[in-house]
Amino acid sequence: LSNRPTPELAASELEALDRRHVLHPHQRSQRSERRVIVRGQGSTVWDANGRKLLDALGGGIWVAQVGHGRAELAEAAAEQAGQLAQFTGFFEYGNDKSIRLAERLAALAPANINRTYFTCGGSEGVDTAIKLARLFHHRRGEPDRNWIIARHFGYHGATYGSGTATGIPDMQVAVGPNLPNVEKVMPPYPYHMEMYGGQNPTDFLINELSQTIERLGARNIAAMIGEPVLGGGGVIPPPDDYWPRVRKLLREHGILLIADEVITAFGRTGTWFDSEPRGMSPDIITVAKGITSGYAPLGAVMVDDEIVETVTGGEHSFFHGYTYSGHPLACAVALANLDLLEKEGLLERSLAIGARFRTGLAPAAEIPVVGDIRVVGATVGIELVVNRETREGVSMDLALAVADDLYETHNVITRNYGPTLVLSPPLVFTDQETDRTSAAIVEVLRRVD
Ligand code: PLP
Repeated sequence: LSNRPTPELAASELEALDRRHVLHPHQRSQRSERRVIVRGQGSTVWDANGRKLLDALGGGIWVAQVGHGRAELAEAAAEQAGQLAQFTGFFEYGNDKSIRLAERLAALAPANINRTYFTCGGSEGVDTAIKLARLFHHRRGEPDRNWIIARHFGYHGATYGSGTATGIPDMQVAVGPNLPNVEKVMPPYPYHMEMYGGQNPTDFLINELSQTIERLGARNIAAMIGEPVLGGGGVIPPPDDYWPRVRKLLREHGILLIADEVITAFGRTGTWFDSEPRGMSPDIITVAKGITSGYAPLGAVMVDDEIVETVTGGEHSFFHGYTYSGHPLACAVALANLDLLEKEGLLERSLAIGARFRTGLAPAAEIPVVGDIRVVGATVGIELVVNRETREGVSMDLALAVADDLYETHNVITRNYGPTLVLSPPLVFTDQETDRTSAAIVEVLRRVD
């Protein structure tokens, strides 16, 4: 696999065709350069020029848990393609691989969660979770419970539903009416204590959430959605008491909690699911990305038993289906991927990578442009600031220039989310690759004025 030739077209031709024919997800209007990746092995990828790059992003972002070019996953995909690539599982049809994967997820999930609805990715999963939450209340005779509480800085996807729940305003601009009845509250952001008016952040946030519930009316609210650790917002872990107190408050008001674990699940933060250790006790968990390490598009919505019984019980149908839900090839790949995560101890490895980043990045803490370094398992956010006193973030252009510099000077792939430089390497990142990434970052940041 690793010796496959590069594509027949030259890099320059591919780049020209890309500009002409491809509309990129999150395309930046001001950038004309293209980076065409054609091959991967372990934590290394090659572009169409044959340039070798260290993938500290994990296959685009937060995806490639087991690394690139894994024969085990290629074989699982090929075998399943030969056996049964697809048979849409609408109504009473199913396939062996999605059944086995659903069983496996139930065994890993909290005890109250035993059913899975499959999607093609995270955005579809979040839309499905929102629908399920609203349906649950409708079926229980509370049809006014339609509001969804989401959070500023949260990222939940790009469809209308998940995009409205996303707390990054660009997502909602100039696309007409967004999903109605979505309200945003603040998340915990310990580096920016100014947001909480000098109060303890959790006290402030619980107070804000209580007031929001009161203003909307508890009987009008279906669910709250949140990432256990904010990912796209800049890798921001909450204080320990945040989720337990949110959970308690929501429970008192009959409001469901959706844990969006599209980033955090499958070892990224060192556990199968991050919501449990953080005290979320969610009613619904959405996952994607690391479930197949990106070898096939797949998402999953894992649902509490009572919700499933209420939504589908008696005469009720659940009229919500995607052609590729439970796609056998994607599910076969996911099963093989979970085997690898287990067999190779990659959940533990995730924590070891994080510990090594902490050490390797420690010298960066002294660099003036570095405001905060946050490490959660094998993901890192380095928040860059123009002023350490005010904690004002650097411009998007400067943060982007840092990521570009790492690419150009050190052949290391990273990405900025706003002013925060983000890392999410494969969980097979070696000690040497981790140290190389840290050293490159320190070197580049030292050169920032
Ligand atoms: N939820 C979270 C937490 C995410 O980070 C993402 C994507 O980055 C999504 C949902 C959307 O997933 P997808 O891009 O697979 O639709």
